Amino acid sequence: MEIRSFICRGRKKKIITLLFIVMFLINAMFYVSFELYNTIKKRHKNQWYKRLHFDQDSYVDKSGMRVIVGHYVGGNSGGNLSQEIINANNYAPVEGAGEGGRPVQLSPREIITARELFALHSYNILVGDRININRSLPDVRSESCKEVQYNIDNLPTASIIIVFHNEAWSTLMRTVMSVILRSPPTLLKQIILVDDASERKYLGKELDDAVSNLGKVQILRSLERKGLVGARLIGARTATGDVLVFLDAHCEVTYGWLEPLLERAGSDDVFICPHIDLLSEDTLAYTKSIDAHWGAFSWRLHFRWLMPSTEVMIHKSENPSKPYPTPAMAGGLFAVRKSLFWRLGGYDEGMLIWGAENLELSWRAWQCGARVEITPCSRVGHIFRRHSPYKYPGGVSKVLNANLARAASVWMDEWADFFFKFNPAVAAIRDQQEVGDRVDLRKNLKCKSFEWYLTNVWPQHFFPTKDRWFGRIRNDKGGCIGVVSGTPGLGGPASKVRCGSDLDLDSLLVYTQEGKIMADEGLCLEQGNGRAVWKSCGDNRKQIWKQEGPRLKTIDGLCLTLVINHSADVTDTPLTAKRCIKTDEQIWHFERVPWR
Ligand code: UDP
Ligand code: MN
Repeated sequence: MEIRSFICRGRKKKIITLLFIVMFLINAMFYVSFELYNTIKKRHKNQWYKRLHFDQDSYVDKSGMRVIVGHYVGGNSGGNLSQEIINANNYAPVEGAGEGGRPVQLSPREIITARELFALHSYNILVGDRININRSLPDVRSESCKEVQYNIDNLPTASIIIVFHNEAWSTLMRTVMSVILRSPPTLLKQIILVDDASERKYLGKELDDAVSNLGKVQILRSLERKGLVGARLIGARTATGDVLVFLDAHCEVTYGWLEPLLERAGSDDVFICPHIDLLSEDTLAYTKSIDAHWGAFSWRLHFRWLMPSTEVMIHKSENPSKPYPTPAMAGGLFAVRKSLFWRLGGYDEGMLIWGAENLELSWRAWQCGARVEITPCSRVGHIFRRHSPYKYPGGVSKVLNANLARAASVWMDEWADFFFKFNPAVAAIRDQQEVGDRVDLRKNLKCKSFEWYLTNVWPQHFFPTKDRWFGRIRNDKGGCIGVVSGTPGLGGPASKVRCGSDLDLDSLLVYTQEGKIMADEGLCLEQGNGRAVWKSCGDNRKQIWKQEGPRLKTIDGLCLTLVINHSADVTDTPLTAKRCIKTDEQIWHFERVPWR
């Protein structure tokens, strides 16, 4: 007995010790996992905020404005999210959230969820679902706009057309409600929602029910995916108002938005756009976009916001409430008299899904006797997205290239050859496009040439022309003038680049008779403080480089010089204007490249 109990006691001790060890190990494991989790969480949070910051910076630049609208990357529509999540409507307004257009902030834990849901719409839907669909917004109009009196009885009526594919319920409803809340009832004839074959469950009966007692709102549904052009045409054919007003499905209009559009659209010769403000994709905050902007496009036909010409800037400052012309429209938001829309050929129905229809419409308007303008007194917020959240049947580039090919081959004349020459993927499908009826339309309407458009509507453009030299400018020591790819471009330092081939747009330049060295994206070589930089082309004497023999001289008589640093660890070879001396670094060879 005694011996046995002794053995027992010894065993107990061992078991207890073992238990302690096991407990310690489990604890340690928990501790390590917890720390790991925290680190990952912190990293997530950091990345999220980094992106937030980056996005806001890239909307508004210090030396002009470049809002990213040209998204050419198709999204994964939520990728690995479950069908239940994808089809759920989680609208649950929190009192006060987002009121007055203020941002909605999330806790670090919520940010992780929001990030996962972001891919669904390419904006923060967790935030969107918290903001009331009736939320208030700031009145961001200038004082002079607030003073304008409109004679409402004399304005034409409006049909608002909103097309959507898989939009979030709350975002779409907020677009609709903002129109209802802020449009004079006598002017608002109807709101037509066109469902472009959405797959989301909440856009079915749930949406029908939500609009059923709003009056004036009707939903047309296309069972087949048409793309935004096809969907807008469905809406336009049904519209009974005098003026068609197109909006994207993620907009919010502000007080007084409709009257300036209708007043101008009444005149029957203009496509009139509101001043588009920013709804942050991360916080849905309403932010004013820069006053001085107009729409244009790059050599690759990407839509861009640029600084307007000096004449337009003067006109704007003298007439702060008057509409001003723009070479192109962003596309999603504009008003036009219904008769003019159809007289000029509606839209090119051959354009599928998304892209290039805004340029086609802008060129057609200008070249065929109408105008495209922006009215600073109509302020509408729009969520600009970095990526397309939806699918492009057939592939993004195929769809987009086909649309670009159509627009270019019908309207751009010699500049179509320029575009096709440097974009072989688009050129490859050029002949597959049946654009005969659009070419006939152009003939029947007796539309002007693209040269007329460039010369008269956008004389500040940076495309090659008959009297502009085009090619590579090579330094005697090797290397060419160009924008280093992957750098910020605008405002960035100018360096030597690899000279590339005749098809390499990055090292090809326009040299004007005036002496401007222009690169794609409207960048001009400018002598800055101590170094040459790439800046928005404008009326700046520091952008003039006069050719004198093999040298390029500033107005002050300095010579463009390639600064070669012989130490091995320096990779950057800057350009700058220096006192002219006898050196190869100031000798430039102009290698002409045919542009068409
Ligand atoms: N849209 C559509 N069908 C499509 C693609 C787009 O109805 O196949 C709608 C989309 O829901 C939005 C509008 O067209 O309301 C413009 O598209 P998006 O906002 O993606 O273009 P962005 O403003 O980013 O250029
Ligand atoms: Mn949009």
